[in-house]
This record gives sequence, C-alpha cells and structure tokens, in this order.
Amino acid sequence: MLKLADPNLLRDSLFIDGAWVKPPKCGTFAVQNPANGQQLAALPLAGRDQARAAVDAAARAFPDWAARPARERSQLLRRWHGLVLENVDDLARILTAEQGKPLSEARGEILYGAAFFEWFAEEAKRVYGETIPAPNADQRLLVIRQPIGVCAAITPWNFPMAMIPRKAAPALAAGCTMVLKPASATPLSALALAELASRAGIPAGVFNVVPGGAKTVGDELVTNSSVRKLTFTGSTEVGRELMAKASTNIKKVSLELGGNAPLLVFDDAHLETAVAGAMASKFRNMGQTCVCANRIYAQDGIYDRFVEALSAAVSKLKVGDGFEDQVQQGPLIDEAAVQKTLEHLQDAVRLGGKVLTGGSRHSLGGTFFEPTVISGATAEMLVAREETFGPLAPIFRFSSEAEAIRLANDTEYGLAAYFFTRDNGRVWRLGSALEFGVIGINTGVTSYEGAPFGGLKASGIGREGSHLGIDEFLEVKYLCVADIARPAA
Ligand code: ADP
Repeated sequence: MLKLADPNLLRDSLFIDGAWVKPPKCGTFAVQNPANGQQLAALPLAGRDQARAAVDAAARAFPDWAARPARERSQLLRRWHGLVLENVDDLARILTAEQGKPLSEARGEILYGAAFFEWFAEEAKRVYGETIPAPNADQRLLVIRQPIGVCAAITPWNFPMAMIPRKAAPALAAGCTMVLKPASATPLSALALAELASRAGIPAGVFNVVPGGAKTVGDELVTNSSVRKLTFTGSTEVGRELMAKASTNIKKVSLELGGNAPLLVFDDAHLETAVAGAMASKFRNMGQTCVCANRIYAQDGIYDRFVEALSAAVSKLKVGDGFEDQVQQGPLIDEAAVQKTLEHLQDAVRLGGKVLTGGSRHSLGGTFFEPTVISGATAEMLVAREETFGPLAPIFRFSSEAEAIRLANDTEYGLAAYFFTRDNGRVWRLGSALEFGVIGINTGVTSYEGAPFGGLKASGIGREGSHLGIDEFLEVKYLCVADIARPAA
C-alpha cells in the first residue's frame, strides 16, 4: 500500500457538489501502479448520471461564485496553492505511484502546477474592462469581461498535477465553475487536488471531479448544454472529435493537442548545452510529453560529435521504479505506449536507422523501456511524422539553415520546437520562421506559468498560463449607454 503522511489524500470516490460520493449502482475500475501492476485504488466508474449531477452542481454554484469579489476568489486560490505546497511529498508519492515518473520529477511537476494557482490568484484581480470613445456625444461605451459559466475539463495522464491546475486555476479565478474528467490511468492526483480544494474552502460545486469513461462521462460533458466551455489536453485525434461534438451547442473550446517537436542543432551550437537540452526535452517523463523533442536534427559539421555525446548521456540514464533513489526513467504508462515505441523503433531500423544505445524493452520487464538513440533517421520513417511518446531519440542530418527550417515545419503539428545556435541573427530568423507556439532557444525546458503555452496548426487552439490564460474563461460584453444628455425627469 502507498504510505502517506496524510492518508486522506488518497480518495476512492467521486467528488461532486463538495461531497465524496460512491454511487451504489456504478461498477468500479482499478488504478494501478505501472511500475509493478499493484492496485492502488478501486474507484467508482462514473457514468452519464454522475457527469450530469456534477454539471448541475457546477451550474448551481456558478452565480454565487461569479458574483464574489475577485479578491475572495483570489484568497481561496491562494489557500489551495498553500495546501498543495504543504502536501507536496504526499502528492508526489501519489503521482509517482499512479503515473510512474521518478519522484523528483513528480515533485517538480507539483510545484510547477501549484504555481498556476498562485499566478491566477493574482490575475483574478486584473480582469480589466475598457472604455471606448463614443461616436455620439450622448453615448458612453464600455467593455466588461465576465466568466463564461460552467467549464468542462478533460485531462491526460502524463502531467495530471500540472494540467489540472493549469485549467482549474484560471477558470476559478475568472469566476467559472468546473467539472473535471481526469484520465482513467491517473485519477488519484485529481482527487487529491479536489480534497485540497475542499480544505481550502472552495465552495461546494465550484470544482467537481468525475473519473469515468470517455464515451460516457466525456461525451456527456462535451454535449451537455449547461457546459459553456471545454478545455481539453490530449491527442489531436480526440481533440478533433471533441471539437466537433462541442460545436453542437457552440461551446467555446481550448485544445492543447499533440506535437511533433523538432530540435535543431546547428554547427555553431555549444555542444554540451545542446546535449543537455536534448536530454531534458526528449527524456522528461520517459518521452511522454507533448513538447518532447520527437525529431532531432543535427547539422553536418556537428552531427558525429553530437550523436556520440547524446548516446553517451542516454546510455547512463538509470531506469527503474520511480520511488527508487537516483532513478531517472520510470516505466511507460501502459503496454500500448510500449508497442508504439517499438513500432517506431522497428520501422526506423528497417529503413536503415542505426541503434546506438538501447533498442528494446528493458530487462526489468513490464512497461520499462531502454532509452534509445538512433542515428541516420530519414523523412520516410514513422518517427518523422508521428509523435512517438516514448524514450526514442531519432537523429536526422541537415546541411543548411533553409533546409532545417523546411524540415522542422514539415508537419501538421505546431506545438513546441527547439534549436541550438550561438548565432544571434539566426536566433531571430528562426524565431519567426518556425511555425510552433513555444520555441526553446538554447534550452530544452521552457515551462513557466507566466508564459503562454499552446500550439499552432493541428496542435490546438488557445493558450494556457500567462496573462492570456484567463481570457479563455471570459466572455467579452459591450455596453452601449445612450441618451445620457437628457436629465432624469
Ligand atoms: P492520452 O490518453 O494519450 O492522454 P487521449 O486524447 O486519448 O490522450 O485522452 C485524453 C483524455 O481525453 C483522457 O481523459 C481520455 O479519457 C479523454 N477522452 C478520450 N477519448 C474521448 C472521447 N471520445 N470523449 C471524451 N473524452 C475522451
């Protein structure tokens, strides 16, 4: 069993209208530790009825929550933030247990996620309006911004402790209420956050968590007419389906979807910086992030040195249970993730790629996989077109800057890109030429709650974080006040 300083953070119920519920007729589903298959909890499998109940609770809670002064909402978000920090060790254990990532990464994720509560607690007080000079003397024109209403959030399993605050914090700051369907692989993180929301004093119905099936709970949230906004992080394939469904009642949507990030290493790059950046970007969370470098391109003059240095660094990565000391790579989330990585690996080898380190499942068994580097990658390979979402680093070769830009942009995706160069002019040229929403220059890590995160093209719609993040949860209303010249009778 998972040992926690505060066992009450491990919840096995749904959180609806401020209460923990276990509907009698629901079946259950098991949450397992991917490192060893151990069952961590059996949760009620919510269905449409529970999703509807949660939406109804959120709709009832909305008017009061929206009407509170921003300062009050801000204070409650701050308390939530404080409680997450106080409980970071327990939360990290829950996250590592259900997701697999090393404990140190889990802590990092929780601190990053918590920062969104703090950031948006501040932004809550800065939802400014506007006045517009009127075309007629007896008019005054104003713009006010108001919370959109009940929001549905559907989140993935790779960063539950970060993706949930990234959505819940701006929504609640704006005055919206929320129903969250977390990924079925990682619902315990979501429920622990709900427990802390409740302790922070977030009122009943403002934040609800309903783990359950995509086709039942997910579908209800996306089609329910009381839900005014959908915020989703997940694959492009599912995002496309959800956007189509949300169009039935013209919901506002924010979509953070797949990526196929290029990472470009130019001849003039600082080698150690480029290797460190590639390691951080490619192997964080065992390669299971939407901003992971998926395609690594090195220029002719640095190619051999870069390939050698990267392989050496990758071969030293320690693989194991995320709870063990010094482990840097945990298990993949499930067997399907292993199969996809294997498929990309085998396809690359068949088309002439050379395995330099790794190259198969790990001897630890289960869903452990050897961190792998392949040289000689080419545009025909699956790894060039599809997101691997696993610990496989394919290295391609390029000759000129123009070719690098063309190759990098040759994808339907547009989430993150990285490049390494010491040439100042090139920094600015690529900064505008690369068609990606987030660009790391001489770094593999760009995450910061104060900066806008989001993709271009098939990678999504909308931005999370920064002062822009709260806009996704606000409506703009224009008030045209006329006839002001006439004195009241
Ligand atoms: P991943 O499983 O790789 O995180 P998905 O896009 O498959 O990415 O899933 C992301 C989230 O979307 C999960 O919470 C999943 O349960 C949910 N989901 C998947 N398919 C649907 C669907 N058809 N309707 C609603 N939610 C869905």
